[in-house]
Amino acid sequence: MKSETNAFKALPNTDFLLQSIELEEAVSTFGNTAVKLMIREELSLFRSKISDNNQFAIDQILRDDFVEIFCGNVAKRLKNSSNTTLLPVINLTGTVVHTNLGRARLPKSAINAMTLVAGSASNLEYDLVSGKRGDRDSHLEKLLCEITGAESATIVNNNAAAVLLVLNTLASGSEAIISRGELVEIGGAFRIPDVMKSANSILKEVGTTNRTHLSDYESAIGTNTSVLMKVHTSNYEIKGFTNSVAESELGKLAHQRKLHFVSDLGSGTLIDLTRYGLPREPTVRENLEEGADIVTFSGDKLLGGPQAGLIVGKKELVERIKRNPLKRALRVDKITIAALIEVLKLYMDPDRLVSRLPLLADLVRPIGEIDHLAGRLLPVFAEKLADVAEVSIEQCKSQIGSGALPLDLLESRALVLKPLAKKGETDARLQKLANSFRSLSTPIIGRLHDGRLIFDLRCLENESQIVGLLKSLTLDY
Ligand SMILES: *Cc1c(COP(=O)(O)O)cnc(C)c1O
Repeated sequence: MKSETNAFKALPNTDFLLQSIELEEAVSTFGNTAVKLMIREELSLFRSKISDNNQFAIDQILRDDFVEIFCGNVAKRLKNSSNTTLLPVINLTGTVVHTNLGRARLPKSAINAMTLVAGSASNLEYDLVSGKRGDRDSHLEKLLCEITGAESATIVNNNAAAVLLVLNTLASGSEAIISRGELVEIGGAFRIPDVMKSANSILKEVGTTNRTHLSDYESAIGTNTSVLMKVHTSNYEIKGFTNSVAESELGKLAHQRKLHFVSDLGSGTLIDLTRYGLPREPTVRENLEEGADIVTFSGDKLLGGPQAGLIVGKKELVERIKRNPLKRALRVDKITIAALIEVLKLYMDPDRLVSRLPLLADLVRPIGEIDHLAGRLLPVFAEKLADVAEVSIEQCKSQIGSGALPLDLLESRALVLKPLAKKGETDARLQKLANSFRSLSTPIIGRLHDGRLIFDLRCLENESQIVGLLKSLTLDY
């Protein structure tokens, strides 16, 4: 016990190490605070070494070159550590719009526009004609109305915020009627009933999980009802004996009874996807034509833009929504607006959308191309992992993700890594393997399934990058 105390005591302190000549360069490159933090980290690692093996630690501390070695390690770790925790990764999970991996990749034009407004003052809320205060929504409203046919539009932080703001404006303290079959949870965190509660709306459920009829809505309407709501649930399907009420019927009913018909479209596609060979999804324009007074949808799902919640519909209602004080709390920043303008502009030219919008390019990537990619990468992976895993190419299905379109839809190809391990050790090996890929300077993220690590190649953009990364892969077995 006594000698242990000595080892801890013998360890030089942070300020002493900070003065050492070995860290002079690091201090001038990374700054005092960063070096100090890294010294503390290194010291805490060393303290755990003392706890593990006191004598070994003492021997090291007593070496003449201890400070030199220690500070050398600190400098090396500073150089190797990227200064941020938020990194680009390569998404080979097979889910194209992956919420945990940041959803849609943005087109070049959007990235350029974001950079421009980020580094400069802009006319975000300034009318260049009158020289007076302007409206930040004005930059998007015309485009959105042109594309969707809406009278008016506004934009907030995400679609959850859009639903919250719409309900809080149109149904605070009153009832919003919704089918039981549409009380969905999306991505674990967004539950329609919870959002309604936060909006101060009273949720009135109608119908059963599998069947809801127009008469269910009709008989539920009371003196305190203000909204009929429809939630688009394409990522979840109730099969068999089902019935739901069409938008047009709900719209008619709402208007006969002087109520507002609100549609949460979720993914919200702006154009008919069948022209690109994808399955049909209702478009925002169709929803409005069928009688929705307000439609809300996400900016970073099928639309392929930045995180945002778009609200389009009747002018009078959108004006009320904009005047809600909550709007100020939920508004988007200039960088989002800059990106969204560019993404929406691409929709003005649907014929060239596939080549310009990364999300759509990923969704419609020809299977032949993915197949060839797999064929070229197989030997590279197999050679690198020769003693570690068996590598093969398999057919798989990619998902669009984030509640968009049906599940398991897009035929794709995967490199499948099966660890070479004794029985009972497979799982530990698999975890190590996946961890090695996650530890790369640009982490590669796959999917673990059935004792195998699966890399769906649909979203792999840069083949030479992955070949380069593979060279630096360290497999510690
Ligand atoms: C995804 C989704 C939401 C939430 O949208 P975010 O942009 O993630 O906030 C709300 N409603 C539906 C139907 C959705 O699919």
